[in-house]
Amino acid sequence: MDQQNRQDAVDGEGCPRRAPSDAWRFDHRHSLHPFAHFESFNKDGSLIIASGSGCRVTDEDGREFIDAVGGLWCTNIGLGRDEMADAIAEQVRRLAYSPIFGDMSHPPSAMLARKLAELAPGDLNRTHFVTGGSTAIDTAFRLIHFYQICQGKPSKINVIARHQSYHGSTYASISIGKRKGDRSPMFQYIQDTIHHVSAPDIYRAPDGMDEAAYCDFLINEFEAALERLGPENVGGFFAEPVMGTAGVLVPPKGYLPGIREICRRHDILYVSDEVVTAFGRLGHWFASEDVFGIVPDIICTAKGLSSGYLPIGAVIYSDRIHEAVADGDPERTFLHGFTYAGHPVCCAAALKNIEIMEREGLMEHAREVGEYFGKKLRDLASLPLVGDVRGHGLMRCVECVADRRTKEPFPDEIQIGKRIADAAEKLGLLVRPLGSLSIMSPPLVIERDEIDFVVGTLGAAIERVDKELQAERKNTG
Ligand code: PLP
Repeated sequence: MDQQNRQDAVDGEGCPRRAPSDAWRFDHRHSLHPFAHFESFNKDGSLIIASGSGCRVTDEDGREFIDAVGGLWCTNIGLGRDEMADAIAEQVRRLAYSPIFGDMSHPPSAMLARKLAELAPGDLNRTHFVTGGSTAIDTAFRLIHFYQICQGKPSKINVIARHQSYHGSTYASISIGKRKGDRSPMFQYIQDTIHHVSAPDIYRAPDGMDEAAYCDFLINEFEAALERLGPENVGGFFAEPVMGTAGVLVPPKGYLPGIREICRRHDILYVSDEVVTAFGRLGHWFASEDVFGIVPDIICTAKGLSSGYLPIGAVIYSDRIHEAVADGDPERTFLHGFTYAGHPVCCAAALKNIEIMEREGLMEHAREVGEYFGKKLRDLASLPLVGDVRGHGLMRCVECVADRRTKEPFPDEIQIGKRIADAAEKLGLLVRPLGSLSIMSPPLVIERDEIDFVVGTLGAAIERVDKELQAERKNTG
């Protein structure tokens, strides 16, 4: 919705609405939003969401939306659960804060660490708690260096990640990621020790390559990068099992196990960035082993760990790493951590969130509705603007292209994703526009009739934008 509409007190469909609220005005005057685009923020301000329940959110004017974005890939158990509010309030009353630095701890942190060891694959039995996804990635980056130096291999300070990945927004995590849209000449990035190989993008695989050939191509490229750097100089590899912000890129079969094996051979720690993909997003507690058949050395997670009720992240790593870093030198200390790491209230929220997921069988439900979502969404593949429909579980995306045959993208200035998201918003649906993509990751509790609404409404929004574009083309001759 644009500012004119907001300020004229009329919504996009011409319905009466209140004058801009205090929240809208204060936000507009005093906030700098994450990833703010100054011009559009100045022009349009923000959509002020005031309340939420399950998969639905309501704005200040009482307009209800299905939130197919799940907040930011995170409201897994759905919004507005009394049980969560009670667990959080109870923990605030009992112990609102106590640190876990050094030799201090408290029951919620200890219980959650044990629970994560039970749910995580292989011998990933240790957790270092952090405040979110970015700090989890930063911690893994430092843990790699710490581990390699403890092993007597200080030259292994380089890491490899993938182009187009997003791993967070701290200095290290934004540098490990390399999404074109996130790189700016106005910022500095760590470049000497962080290297990138291709993202596994099956839709844009080189001409004539089938999935198996593309998988070999990517693995060969990784081996060539390793050869160039020297395996004795590489300490870690970072990968999201399914690349979310890159456009929900599901890797070719065999790709992740292939890279995992190479990393094992060279003692390169494999970091699975499951900030998005864990806690049911792909129908399992963790996707690395249950979906892709790999046991990484380190899993970074956040988001669904508390379903967004409170901020918390976790770096879950193997007993093997722990033995290497903890045994040996009696003077050794892990000099890293955050005041709010393992915050008791956040841990209590995460424990309750996991209990709800277990009790309600949300992994099974997510697998079932995730498959249904994928099947329904394929109906949109026949729309003239749609180039690709892809994803896994409850992580899905529709990519629009200017030319379906050549897969030529729309020019940036068309803002195709944003136009589709705006059209969907007017019809009561929130999807996340990223370039030419419409990205969706609804709460796991979504039901089939709500998925029908999401797919039908997104289809209608794409058709509406298609008509607008045709009219614009006619007008410009
Ligand atoms: N890693 C991945 C794969 C993400 O998608 C994100 C955020 O979207 C992050 C890391 C960063 O998490 P946070 O925003 O909690 O710092």
